[in-house]
Amino acid sequence: MLQVGINGYGTIGKRVAEAAELQDDMTVIGVTKTSPGHETADAESKFNLYGTTAEAVDTLREAGHDVTGDVGDLVEQADIIVDATPAGTGKDNKPIYQSHDTPAVFQGGEPADVADASFNSAANYSQARDADYVRVVSCNTTGLSRLISTLEVFGVSSVHATLIRRGGDPDQHGRGPINDIVLDPPSIPSHHSPDLRTIYPGIDICTHAVKVPMTLMHLQGVKVQLNGTPTEEEVIETIHESDRLACIPARSGIRGCAGIKEAAGDRGRARNDVWENCVWESSVAVDGNELHLYQAIHQEANVVPENIDAIRAVAAEKSQAESRQRTNDALGVGLEF
Ligand code: NAD
Repeated sequence: MLQVGINGYGTIGKRVAEAAELQDDMTVIGVTKTSPGHETADAESKFNLYGTTAEAVDTLREAGHDVTGDVGDLVEQADIIVDATPAGTGKDNKPIYQSHDTPAVFQGGEPADVADASFNSAANYSQARDADYVRVVSCNTTGLSRLISTLEVFGVSSVHATLIRRGGDPDQHGRGPINDIVLDPPSIPSHHSPDLRTIYPGIDICTHAVKVPMTLMHLQGVKVQLNGTPTEEEVIETIHESDRLACIPARSGIRGCAGIKEAAGDRGRARNDVWENCVWESSVAVDGNELHLYQAIHQEANVVPENIDAIRAVAAEKSQAESRQRTNDALGVGLEF
């Protein structure tokens, strides 16, 4: 049983902690918090609580929390740490993991060189097998990586994507209120192109990104230059067969991200989480070897199965296929509309 520690129990950390706890080959031995609040109370009700620093331990204890120790104590006991601290903080935490000789999974907000390998479970699972530190790429890059790996049966020579990004997560009121469409950044390509190249160095990639005033999901308009010339039906069939891509059929009546989140909640998903890329079947258009489609990406959730696979790739002797199957089965990946 793998002993997993979670450093940073926010949007991503709490989801990864709950997903890891659902696996029968790993258990969460503790999560860290910095200060009291509703998330800390939630964390304490489910997991052993640790402070991110010695001061945080004091602050949490003064607020009445039952604190097991500080982050060093957690790292010492863990077989692997998932670092889900705010973007850019993980690289500062790396010396703690190194000093305890504990491997770690970082998130997409960290610079690529924080890790031995950037990771997407469908694309390069085996690269993480010999790594001590891996970085699960960002939600948008994860969505594009999954799509590319699915389409590789037709040969992929280039990818152009316009990313319509949510302005913030639902709880990030500090980012709003906003009333604009913001070029993010104004230059082309956006930072997602180099990020995607950490997974697919050989493919010609260009991404543009804008931010819009909503919190639900990202929407990606994607143009893929294929080597083959599949029919639209063949592309849709291939997406249907892919385990972490879900098809939105026209009969569902879903025409936006809110409908996807609502359907996920109706099907019993906690927090209305959507782990899958959601591709609109009607948007799939093929002209020769040029493919166009729209897919929606739930930024808070789609990297969660990838984190679970990253834990196994680094710290367990499990193959890519076995890990993905175990993750999918335990979480119930495979949303149908
Ligand atoms: P978040 O702010 O929701 O959560 C981070 C948590 O870490 C908070 O609970 C915070 O209190 C805690 N924290 C702060 N400083 C800490 C420290 N020094 N040590 C330990 N914990 C600390 O952030 P998030 O959205 O979960 O993002 C985490 C990482 O995941 C980032 O790299 C981000 O880029 C990446 N990511 C985020 C999303 C998303 O949409 N939210 C999607 C994909 C990847």
